[in-house]
Amino acid sequence: DVADLDLAALVRTIPDYPKPGVMFRDITTLIANPAGLRAAVDGLVWPFLDARVSLVAGIEARGFILGGAVAHELGRGFVPIRKKGRLPAKTIGQDYALEYGVDTIEVHADAIRPGDRVLVVDDLIATGGTAEAAIDLVRRSGGEVVAAAFIIDLPDLGGADRLRAKGVAVRTLIS
Ligand code: 5GP
Repeated sequence: DVADLDLAALVRTIPDYPKPGVMFRDITTLIANPAGLRAAVDGLVWPFLDARVSLVAGIEARGFILGGAVAHELGRGFVPIRKKGRLPAKTIGQDYALEYGVDTIEVHADAIRPGDRVLVVDDLIATGGTAEAAIDLVRRSGGEVVAAAFIIDLPDLGGADRLRAKGVAVRTLIS
């Protein structure tokens, strides 16, 4: 029964990846499980069935897998938010801080229109830096962020609170 499924038990933890001291939460085991994938996507979709979402934006790369499925279930289109240099048409970019240095994500300049109501999707929120940059791209494009939705929250890192402080509703399935 999907309702009784222990989603957290389907996430695999890899110690010391990608570097010593990090406990990487690997969702490939969850999305390889049919009931797990369905429960995860349904959990990201149902709060927004009546939220008048007009577009789903997914963050590279695991946000593409989940965001594509969420967009399909909502009957809306999907917009990829990608690492710098990977989108073919004109883009706008947003820098965000990493532990050491900065990174940049981009979206096509014409992908999100003023008035769009956008649901942002990724697999996991840690510090919230990546999601915050994605939210900034949506807002700079003239879109409204309906919410940001993730399978996993790492609450000790404060990302969900950081997004809420920017006025964004946050949906997560596992803490
Ligand atoms: P943040 O910007 O919130 O610190 O980090 C979140 C981003 O890094 C997301 O795009 C997420 O996919 C990735 N990420 C960071 N840590 C993990 C992890 O333990 N597991 C997975 N699956 N992704 C992670």
